[in-house]
Amino acid sequence: MERYYFDHNATTPVSPEVLEDVVAALRDVPGNASSIHFFGQAAKQQLELGRRRTAALIHCDSRELVLLSGGTEADNLAIQGAVRAGKSRVRHVITTSIEHPAVLGTCAHLEREAISVTRVKVGSSGVVDPQEIRRALRPETALITVMHANNELGTLQPIREIAIIAREAGVPFHVDGVQAAGKIPVDVKGLGVDLYSISGHKFYAPKGAGALYVRKGTKMESLMFGGKHERERRPGTENVPGVVGLGRAAQSARENLAVEAERLTALRNRLENGILDRIPACGVNGRSPRTPNTTNIYFDGIEGEALVIALDLKGFAVSSGSACSSGSVEPSHVLLAIGLPPERARASLRFSLGRSNDDQQVDALIDAVAESVAHLRKLSPTYASA
Ligand code: PLP
Repeated sequence: MERYYFDHNATTPVSPEVLEDVVAALRDVPGNASSIHFFGQAAKQQLELGRRRTAALIHCDSRELVLLSGGTEADNLAIQGAVRAGKSRVRHVITTSIEHPAVLGTCAHLEREAISVTRVKVGSSGVVDPQEIRRALRPETALITVMHANNELGTLQPIREIAIIAREAGVPFHVDGVQAAGKIPVDVKGLGVDLYSISGHKFYAPKGAGALYVRKGTKMESLMFGGKHERERRPGTENVPGVVGLGRAAQSARENLAVEAERLTALRNRLENGILDRIPACGVNGRSPRTPNTTNIYFDGIEGEALVIALDLKGFAVSSGSACSSGSVEPSHVLLAIGLPPERARASLRFSLGRSNDDQQVDALIDAVAESVAHLRKLSPTYASA
């Protein structure tokens, strides 16, 4: 059976050019990038090339990047590091109700240390109102953290507007850019943010390689202690092959961004319109400006998990929420936050497209979704009686 992958927001496969560079690094670059001999210097060169290419993707100076293991670590370092660097004894953090668990979990951890957290609500659009962020500010606010693109809906947040508010208030601003970098143009200087998290495995680099942009002058404490790597912000022997892959993937993403974004938008719209035309009682969640590759659709009367399994049996990989929380029976916190009733949140699927998808695959997916939804609805007493 042919299998088709429509879950690129969970992770992406390593692209051929990235694989080639990573294998070459594993084979030919055995040194520790901190060693002063030939092998160490060769590794250092590769590390710095990867860093420069990654920096170019988000338009920062390569010296402002901390290389680390991925989005969760970047979010933890940014949030905990910036809040702990705050001088006052009473501290407050502003975030939103639709963040990824990497941010919400870190904020919950800070709450256990008596740091207060405001989770700003979002409307049905899936987009936070910057004025709500302004209203949440307190004299003791130590950090604002808001995601750039939502992982479940793809909705884009008004980062530039929030950055202006943060700057006026003199509060550092962190952005979880894990679902934005590589999909839409990102210019951290133009956006005016202080901290920005990215993760390579969302744009065809290997898992376990990511970066945190830290604007020069931003105060941030380290969370780990050891050697002097990454300007003492993230000690530990550098993952040279991972950074080589990260850099190469960043370069490819940057070169192909405009063309791929246009292609994926057309493909996503084809999928969305195909499903909406063919299937009754379904609709798009959070229909605001979104990343080109993402759509989230509810199908009344079905269980999202059952539809994921039905589609998997037909060879299509999709998701009923973020990969980090799948397996839980709780409906998605993002869908609840935008006002969906729990049964509709449980009846929703995320489709996230990527490089390997084409028109034919999308048409086959539409057929499979239509068949599976019709079949599951036949078995559903609630839908039949609705
Ligand atoms: N932030 C967002 C918005 C994400 O979508 C993810 C992963 O799904 C993460 C953070 C965590 O990134 P990583 O898997 O690299 O730890």
